[in-house]
Amino acid sequence: MPEGPEVEAVRRELLQFKDQIIEKITLTQLSQKYPKYQGKQIDFRVFEHEKIRNLIRFNKFLVWEFGIQPVILNHLGMSGKWVIVTKFEDIQEQCTHPKVIIEILNSKYLVFDDIRNFGQFRVFPSFEDVIQYKPIKNLGIDGLSENYSVQTFVERISEKRFQNRVIGELLMDPRLVSGIGNIYKAEILFDSKIHPERKVSSIVNKERNILGESIPKVLLRALNDKGSSFDARYKLPSGENGEATRWHKVYQRKDQPCYSCGNKIQRIKQQNRTTFFCDSCQK
Ligand SMILES: [Zn+2]
Repeated sequence: MPEGPEVEAVRRELLQFKDQIIEKITLTQLSQKYPKYQGKQIDFRVFEHEKIRNLIRFNKFLVWEFGIQPVILNHLGMSGKWVIVTKFEDIQEQCTHPKVIIEILNSKYLVFDDIRNFGQFRVFPSFEDVIQYKPIKNLGIDGLSENYSVQTFVERISEKRFQNRVIGELLMDPRLVSGIGNIYKAEILFDSKIHPERKVSSIVNKERNILGESIPKVLLRALNDKGSSFDARYKLPSGENGEATRWHKVYQRKDQPCYSCGNKIQRIKQQNRTTFFCDSCQK
């Protein structure tokens, strides 16, 4: 599933269409079976001949802003991809499950290709409405944001409501920090030498600070490499792969030797998600 760095890398590529004019947004027939592509074709007509003003990221959501009030909330879900296609005839060839086609005036097609159907693309009446949407409203600090600070992180993780949580699970909770998913949770915990099964209350202040430093370090490094492409599930709109997989230390390395100590990397399940760690480096 694309995490903060992947969604941010996609956003930055899509920004090349900023200030370009939309000819038409088409929801394909394929999209109409799924409730998160809410609204009928007619709801998207308001965007015809409007400029794309901006794309803003909240955790793993992208909000598309235009010259008019309504905005579009977009989530890549498990495997949704934006694909830049030059010719209409090429859409079927380049995309397997096209759900949304944005035709840019005198230019290309932006196609939302969503194989597993967990993506979202829907109209909200205004930007103010979308930021009141609960999954956005309740977000904690973003690990990729320039406003992120270790001090804020330490204050936040020290809140009473988080003390009984298990750190490997809590790091995935965007109410604490947003932008972290399964891959970077494992890498962040390895980087900060904290065992994923530790209870937050047992993590001392010094470790909280180290963890707070590892979060942007790992996320920004991943963004710099345009995210992690393991398979066809994540690609940039240009078709390029993210290169962050090259330096993963634990994720999907079960039974392979730890780069620091040589012990075998372990895999466990936490809340139905796998996590990878080194039992001897992470305490
Ligand atoms: Zn190790």
